[in-house]
Amino acid sequence: MAKGSCNCNAVQFEVRSPIKHIYICHCSICRKAGGGNGVSVAVVNNSDFVWVNGQEFIKTWHKPNHDWLCSFCIECGSNLPGKNDEQRMYVPVGLISNTDLENAKVVHHLWVSCKASWEHIGDDGKQHAEFID
Ligand SMILES: [Zn+2]
Ligand SMILES: [Zn+2]
Repeated sequence: MAKGSCNCNAVQFEVRSPIKHIYICHCSICRKAGGGNGVSVAVVNNSDFVWVNGQEFIKTWHKPNHDWLCSFCIECGSNLPGKNDEQRMYVPVGLISNTDLENAKVVHHLWVSCKASWEHIGDDGKQHAEFID
């Protein structure tokens, strides 16, 4: 099981299945949202995801005219988990401690065609020019 929380600890959640695969999206929207090279997430089944505390601190924002949304803590601004599709949540892995991610590794890089000019991807994750499901 993995426990996650935002910087101010108001929002807390658990993932009740092992996290193995990390996806990094390098698109320009995720780079703005994350403030760096993109957003790194795991995708988990809704049945394995539980909010433990602080759902009232969550704000969700949809980018107009895009199929893109993010959730964040209204107190500290940390990126938070959100709806990936009807069955699954995406979970920013920076919210989870290293000890709960010992078996996780980056498997896919998305939107590499849009990555920051200064970024050099150095892991074994497969690089995709655009999006994959
Ligand atoms: Zn917070
Ligand atoms: Zn993206």
